[in-house]
Amino acid sequence: MYNGRLSQGQTQTREIGEMTSQQAVRIKEFEGEVRRRGENAEIGWEESSNAETRGVLFGAFAGVTLMVYPNGLISIPAVRSYHPPKYPTPVIAAASSKQLWAGQKRRDDANPEKAKERRGGHLHPIVDTNLKCRSADCPCHNQGPGDLQKRARGGRNTNPNRCS
Ligand SMILES: [Zn+2]
Repeated sequence: MYNGRLSQGQTQTREIGEMTSQQAVRIKEFEGEVRRRGENAEIGWEESSNAETRGVLFGAFAGVTLMVYPNGLISIPAVRSYHPPKYPTPVIAAASSKQLWAGQKRRDDANPEKAKERRGGHLHPIVDTNLKCRSADCPCHNQGPGDLQKRARGGRNTNPNRCS
């Protein structure tokens, strides 16, 4: 079970056939983008068995949770906003998740009350398979499944190939 504590380089035993082909292709793209930047792309992806997120792969990249949905959409559930032209695809954004999280945290820390009112993103970079994060102050802890699903769509993306 994913607990958000997987370190980079830690490998998990998983059959490639367990994930969908869209997930496998997306992870390859993500790894290519991260390696192109000279960083370590090894993530211990784990498939969620939680009813809320069954079949979604969860991993932690540089301390920030990434999710890969069965249709190949890669998401940074904690980050509420990333758009073209700087972030044309969810893969580019995912490879930048550390910087995206740092920027959001700076803005949220400067205005914590406003941050709590926002419907997207989270107040902690690690989001568990129940779609709740590790900050007790985050509004996700008082939300139902529908709102949590929307909140998990980093950048409000639905298209696996293009940021909105
Ligand atoms: Zn949260």
